[in-house]
Order: sequence, then C-alpha cells, then structure tokens
Amino acid sequence: MLPFLNQGAQSFRHGIHPEDYKAMTRDMPLERMPFMEEVVLPLRQHLGAPSVALVKPGEKVFRGQLIGEAPAFVSANLHASVTGTVKRVEPHHHASGKLEEAIVIERDPYSPQSLYGEQKIDWEDFSPQELIDHIQYAGFVGLGGAAFPTHVKMTVPEGKKARFFIVNAAECEPYLNSDFRILLEWTEAIFLGIRISLKILGAERAYIGVETNKQEAIDRLREMMPSDLPCEVVPLVTKYPQGAEKMLTDAVLDKEIPSGKLPIDIEVLVNNVGTVAGIGQYFSYRQPLIERVVTVTGPGIKRPANLIVPIGTRLSDVIEFCGGLHENTRQILFGGPMMGSAQRFLDVPIMKGTSGLLFLTDQEVFPREEYACIKCLRCVDACPVYLNPSRLGLLAKERKYEDMMEFHILDCMECGSCSYVCPSNIPLVQRFRVAKGLLREKMAREKAKQKA
Ligand code: SF4
Ligand code: SF4
Repeated sequence: MLPFLNQGAQSFRHGIHPEDYKAMTRDMPLERMPFMEEVVLPLRQHLGAPSVALVKPGEKVFRGQLIGEAPAFVSANLHASVTGTVKRVEPHHHASGKLEEAIVIERDPYSPQSLYGEQKIDWEDFSPQELIDHIQYAGFVGLGGAAFPTHVKMTVPEGKKARFFIVNAAECEPYLNSDFRILLEWTEAIFLGIRISLKILGAERAYIGVETNKQEAIDRLREMMPSDLPCEVVPLVTKYPQGAEKMLTDAVLDKEIPSGKLPIDIEVLVNNVGTVAGIGQYFSYRQPLIERVVTVTGPGIKRPANLIVPIGTRLSDVIEFCGGLHENTRQILFGGPMMGSAQRFLDVPIMKGTSGLLFLTDQEVFPREEYACIKCLRCVDACPVYLNPSRLGLLAKERKYEDMMEFHILDCMECGSCSYVCPSNIPLVQRFRVAKGLLREKMAREKAKQKA
C-alpha cells in the first residue's frame, strides 16, 4: 500500500500490515452460482442455539420458505435456499469439523426457483420492534464471519442506547473481496439497510468505515449518498485487524472500548456491510437470508471469482464451478488467512458466516520449525488490545492457563497478529485458542456447580 493513499485516513494503534493479495478477485463482478442438485442446510450456522427443523423427508419446500425455527432468543431462523423436496434430516459434515444435524434438499429441476412470497415491504410506518421482528424472521446473522444473530444485536439492552451506527466495510482480511464487491454493486441496498437500522436504533448518525485499498468504493458511496441520510464515509488506514469491532470503533470515532465491554457500552452499534445490504434487500423484495457473497480465491483454485452462493451449496460444487483445484493445493480455508478455519471435508456446505473460500498451495503452506522466544517484543507491538503475547505464549507452553488470566488472556480476540510477526514461528494464537477454550469450560463448570 502506497503511504499517500492513507493520508487523512483514520486508524487504531498497533496492528500489522500483511500483503493484501486482493488483486486476484477485486475486479471480478458478482456472479451467480447455479442451483445445485442438492443443498445441505445445517441447523447450527450461527452463534447460539441451533434452529429446530420444521420439515420432514418427503415434504416439498419453496425457495425462501421457513424450514428451521429458532428455539431461543439467541438463535436464528433457517429458510430453504432452493425449491425442491426434503430428502433427509441427518448429521452431516460441518465447517466446525464436527457432524451437525442438517436438512438436505433435492432441487426441483423444473422449478424456476422464484422467491417464495416475493414482495416489497412498506416498512416506513413500522415501529422499531416490528422492524426487528422482520429481521429476526428473516434469519439474519453477522455476515462478517462471527454469525451472531442480528436481531439480538439490534435489540439495545434496557438502560443503554446506540447513538452511533457503524457499518463495518473494512474487510481487512487479505484475499477477500466480498464486502468490496457489495459496496460497489449493492450500494442502494446498503443505504436502505442503514436507513432501517437508524430507525430501529434511534441513532443520530451512521458511519461506513472503508479501508483505503478500496478507493473506488469510497468514491462510489460518496457520489451516491442520499442527501437526507445522516451518514458519513470514513476512509481507514489499510491495516489488520481494522475490521474487529473494537478497532473499527476506535478508528471511526476515536473512542476506546474498555476491556470486557462491548461497543454498545459506549453507545455504538456495529454491523457488517453484507448484513446491512441483506437487510436492505429483504425489505425491498422479502428475501430472507438464503444466499450470500463468497470470494473464491487463492493460488490453489483454477478460476477465482466473487460468487453469490445459495446457502447450503457444497464446497465441492463451488470448486467444480470454479474450474477445479491445482495439483499442489494443500489447504482450504473458510474465511481469510488470518482468522479462517481449515476444512477437512469437501462436502461441507457454505453457511451464513462463510465470507470466503481460500485455496492455498505448497508454496504458502509448509511446516515451519519453532524456535525459542528471543524477546524481540514484535508481538507486543502488534497486539491491538495491548496484551503481552510473548509472556502469554510462555505460560501457554507450560500449560499455566490459570496464570494467563492475570495477563488478560480473555481479551485476546484471536486475530493472529502476534503469530504473524513472530520471527521464532511460535504458534501463539493457536495456543491462546486452546487456553481460552479450556478456561471457558472451567468457568462454565464452576458456574454450574454454584447453581446446583
Ligand atoms: S491473537 Fe490475541 S494476543 Fe495475539 S495479537 Fe491478536 S489479540 Fe493480541
Ligand atoms: S515475537 Fe515471538 S520471539 Fe518475539 S517476543 Fe514475541 S513471542 Fe518472542
């Protein structure tokens, strides 16, 4: 990134500047992936309780029909992404590496795949709660990867308020361009999504945070911004992890979120740009969350692309549609190289939170020998939440997990910046993930004991 491009752009302290590798797909317009013979819709594809199947094998379903119901507030509805017949409801390979219950639908080859109940929604007279109810019905979750149910996020807790709404369009993960293409191609839907979000929250102002490596998107948003929309485009320094909520809030509003707190604690609410555009589309033609934009990229795939993929499409079908894999492909990630998760099975389905498919070859993925920590403190300079990864790494290696609490391990957002800069190839973030998992389990056990 040339330094002059970042002039006047805002940012947070610390962080890293990895090569962005976005050129491979940045100029590729969105392309619609065809409907495959079968789709696999896991009941667990969001944070919170999995949805509960409303359909049985043999039942006919329509594209956009509700087929899985949220059993709790922190959960999300699930809709059919194709018109067809339910073949099975059974455990299936899942991006988490586990088997998860899923609804398998066989496409009706004679159906035009039109949308069930397609119709514009006249939302202007709705109350904020009615708008949230619609978002909840439509099964929206954060499309940046975390897949937290959107209706939960947009329900501001009693005693708090959201004065500012930030649209997260930083897309700081290398290789990915799904948000960039949405900014360019679904601009009107973003503005409508912002209008609806401002009404729900009663917020004063919206901001769209975009990194300066997406200058065309910044220009387009500014050019097309409706004059009556209280919204500002904020250019951000191209830096990782600029898209993390805490970093984004700091960069856009110059407000730090204290340890253990959320943006709403400082009157801010953040949503991913894909989610905001999806909300705009839902109110334009009542399309629930049944498809998403996925960047298919990396040196291992023959035809990189930015695709609109029906949720539930198998990874193997996307690979075939994109011309297949090069022989030296070694690793497939759901998401980007910094926070993505490696996949073991080719029949895993694309889910609501799958922002990208990254195919890496033996040129990028090879064993690296680990050396002792040389106390260079590069990891300390990189950590965006001011932890001491060097110290935490030593404690994790010795399995002194309890002691890691004193060094605020639970504030670690697993961004991987420390591992990226470490000259000794210490797998810091991998160790922190294990430590956090074990500590959370222990805390849950202790809480359960206290209740009993
Ligand atoms: S992974 Fe955790 S410790 Fe490492 S830089 Fe990110 S937040 Fe800091
Ligand atoms: S970057 Fe690696 S070698 Fe340097 S202090 Fe941190 S853990 Fe040690």
